[in-house]
Amino acid sequence: MAHKPKHKNTHNKMNILYIVAMQAEAQPFIDHYGVKEVVDFFSPLPCKLYQTTITNANGNSSQLSIVLNGQQHGSDLVGCEAASVATLAAIQRLHPDIIVNSGTCGGFQAKGAEIAKVYIGNACMFHDRRVPGDDIWGTQALGNYPVWKGAQEMSESLNLPLGKVTTGSSLDLQPCDLEIIQENGGELKDMEGAAVAFVASLLNTPVVFVKSVTDLCDSGAETFEEFSRNLSKASQALKETNIRVIDYLSNL
Ligand code: SAH
Repeated sequence: MAHKPKHKNTHNKMNILYIVAMQAEAQPFIDHYGVKEVVDFFSPLPCKLYQTTITNANGNSSQLSIVLNGQQHGSDLVGCEAASVATLAAIQRLHPDIIVNSGTCGGFQAKGAEIAKVYIGNACMFHDRRVPGDDIWGTQALGNYPVWKGAQEMSESLNLPLGKVTTGSSLDLQPCDLEIIQENGGELKDMEGAAVAFVASLLNTPVVFVKSVTDLCDSGAETFEEFSRNLSKASQALKETNIRVIDYLSNL
């Protein structure tokens, strides 16, 4: 297999780490696998760990760890800061072979997006970091961190569309952000992807994205209303795709 991530553990078992922001996004596939929470694993950090071993139809087993950013003040911690903390803590404690950052995103009708369409993200960038300076500062602001080299091969094998994740700290879309998204080919607007990839790049861990569309940034609808209306449908679609992704990764 061309882009098999290097196993860090001694037994030949793929160690797959999911980083997910919201409980509602992860719950359908937590339920599907019957994954149990490892209570207080990251204490005192708010991140939550669910872990199990999966054996697929070919008899290949993987360790599956699903890490949620956790909660503060009664709501799920979305956004870059919480995703960075969760990713750093999870890599250091779990030593994954590969990270999958999975969740929902905004899409663009003009680029073929539809509600609950699920993409493999094979590139990422930030769209709300405006840092004046030369090209070096501009490059750092944009991010453009490396994504797992096997992303395209996986998308072809599973017949899933590819897209570039574009990350910022807000759910709404401001005209100055849209300009950066359009200039740089961003397609899947989220609040965590590039932050997860940033931490993964520091610790040399391959990362790939699985993102399901909850809202269309160019539909004219109010984003939060559209997001809330479609969250459950998009999360079901995410589960179906993640089952196939986990099966694919387990066979590498
Ligand atoms: N207040 C909301 C919070 C959701 S924030 C709630 O009660 O559910 C949106 C989450 O979904 C983030 O984790 C983000 O990654 C993703 N997301 C979905 N659509 C998005 C969009 N259009 N722009 C940015 N992030 C989006």
